[in-house]
Order: sequence, then structure tokens, then C-alpha cells
Amino acid sequence: MTVNIGVIGTGLIGQDHIRRLNMMLAGSAVVAVSDADNERAREVADRVGARVLPTGLDLINDPDVDAVVVASWGPTHEEFVLAAIESGKSVFCEKPLATTQSACQRIVSAEQEHGKRLVQVGFMRRYDAAYLALKEATDSGEIGAPLLMHCAHRIPQVADNFTSEMAINDAAIHEFDMVRWIFGSEVVGVRVFAPRHNRNSRPELLDPLFIILEMDSGALVDIEVSANIRYGYDIRGEIVGELGTASLENSSALEIRSAFQARTQVPGDWQARFSQAYDSELRDWISGIETGVSPKGPSSWDGYAATCIADAALEALQSGNSVAVNLESRPTFYDS
Ligand code: NAP
Repeated sequence: MTVNIGVIGTGLIGQDHIRRLNMMLAGSAVVAVSDADNERAREVADRVGARVLPTGLDLINDPDVDAVVVASWGPTHEEFVLAAIESGKSVFCEKPLATTQSACQRIVSAEQEHGKRLVQVGFMRRYDAAYLALKEATDSGEIGAPLLMHCAHRIPQVADNFTSEMAINDAAIHEFDMVRWIFGSEVVGVRVFAPRHNRNSRPELLDPLFIILEMDSGALVDIEVSANIRYGYDIRGEIVGELGTASLENSSALEIRSAFQARTQVPGDWQARFSQAYDSELRDWISGIETGVSPKGPSSWDGYAATCIADAALEALQSGNSVAVNLESRPTFYDS
């Protein structure tokens, strides 16, 4: 069986997912694309032998499209995800699920009314081999109960339109989802500090940011987001437990030791660091569609929770205060 996919948004990650769905994964083919930039959509469609549809809604309602990938700009996600749910089609939505808490809640409600989970959110770290090993080590109890986690999200260089808010909404949102998943508990409070400024950044960009999350277990998580650290794309995480620690190792395969030195490589960007995780998340999504099983990956509820934390972090950045994260109680629909 081949699952016919429609992709909305043929920008950076949309093109990457199209390549993956056509070339890397068995059982899927991209048959239609749509983009606000029609020329870009045409160029991509011609390359992969797909049709261009005028709008995302046309694509969702097209009878030849079995399932939908939403990889357009964040503020467009709500409309497309709601339309996919209404048409009963599975939808893989890049993060963020939607840009406001109320939009995420509308998606969560629509999915429950539909009666079956249809939405998977692109929090790919849950599929990354190193993070999976970190979760397994934590769950095994070997390091005891987790007390602290130190995270770093280091980006070598960002574009001129990257803002301090995007360091939270676009970058740290991955850590917000990851810590909920690894700790198996919710974030209840957040505080954000802007330390000494990196001279490589524009004066108005707060870089780095240092975020502290308070978990409902009492554990604390700190997240450094550096936007212009130049040396590489470096994603780090270390959990401190009662009996030991567990930390992510660099994803580089090779370390050279010579002349009293150890040398290894640091990835250049998110595509290099997380390519295996992007493959795995889409493989899991496709196999769920083939077997008729609801997606097991990050759900609409996880998308809602991450957006609530991001909103609290934005408020904390503005006020300088600790801000509470108040989630609705999780519907049993999202238990499994
Ligand atoms: P991008 O390169 O700017 O591509 C987004 C594309 O969507 C652009 O071609 C844009 O057209 C198009 N678009 C905007 N409004 C649209 C609409 N109403 N209908 C159809 N297409 C529309 O951005 P990107 O980096 O690929 O990011 C896309 C999404 O993926 C974002 O939500 C981002 O946060 C997420 N993302 C996730 C990861 C991850 O690690 N999981 C990594 C990168 C990006 P115009 O340029 O004409 O506006």
C-alpha cells in the first residue's frame, strides 16, 4: 500500500520532508503540494512529479490525498489542522501545533469530537536515538529520581529576522516538549533571564537566554538558548538524579585521539543533527496510517502543552518574574 501525501508549505522543512517521504521511506509518495509562493510550489512539484493545488484547503479536500503534512508558517497551522480533522485525514503538523493556546484548544476539542486521534506534532526529539537512550536511562531508575536537568540549545548563526521571542517559540519549544516527555511530568512555572549579551548578535536580540522550568515533581530544568555561538549546532542535555547522571553525547560518529588531544565534529545545523529523528517520526506516522492505528507520537495535547509553556516563558521574558503554567486537565482521550 502507498499512502498518498499532500504537503502544505514547500519551504525549508517542507522540501526536506518531501524528499524523505519520496526517497527515504517505503510506503509513501507525495502527490500534491501547495504553498503561498506558487512559483516555489511549482518548482518543487515539477521536481518530484506532484500536482500543485491552489490552497492548503484544496489540497486537504482533494480525493487523491490520503494524509496531510503541514509545513507552512506557524500562524497558518490551526486552519489546516482543523480542516484535516474535519475531512477525517491524518495530519502531521510541524511545530508549533498552533501559535496560541486557544487555537491549540480548538484543535484538541475538534479531534476529540471526531473520536479518533488524527494529529501528530513534529517534536522529533522524541524519535532521536540519543534522547530515547536518555529517557530509557531515566525510566530504568539507574540514576535514581531525576532532580535537575541542564540543557543547551546552541545555534551557530541565525538570520536577521530571528527575534528574542523566536528563541523561545521556535527553539526552546523543543526542550519544553522534551522535558515533559522525559520526566513524565508537567511544567508548572517558568522564569527567563537575559545574561550578558553575545557581541555576535544584533543589539536588540537577547542572546543568550537562560530559562528555568519548574516541574510539578519539584525538579528544576535549565535551558540555555544561544543563537549566534558560531562553533556549531550543539544540543546538550544532562539529567542529575539521586544516584548518578545521564547525558546526551554528541551525535558525531567519530572521535580522533592523537598528539595528546581528542577531536570530534559538531553538526552544522538542525538538519544534520536530527536527520535520523525526522526519518523516524515520519516512518512512525506513515506506519500508523497503513495499519489504521492512531499516532503514538506527540499529540495535539502535547502541542497545546508546549504552546502554554512558551506563552508563559514569553510573559516571563517581558516581566522578569516567575510565571505559572496553568494547563487544563488532560482529557483521558490522550492517555495512551
Ligand atoms: P519556510 O522555509 O519559511 O517555509 C514555509 C513555507 O510556507 C513558505 O514557502 C511560505 O511561503 C509558506 N506559506 C506561508 N503561508 C502559507 C499558506 N497559507 N499556505 C501555504 N503555504 C504557506 O519555513 P520552514 O523553516 O520550512 O518552517 C515551516 C514550519 O516548520 C514552521 O512552523 C517551523 O517552526 C517548522 N520547523 C520545524 C523544525 C523542526 O525541527 N521540527 C525545523 C524547521 C522548521 P512564503 O515564503 O511566501 O510566506
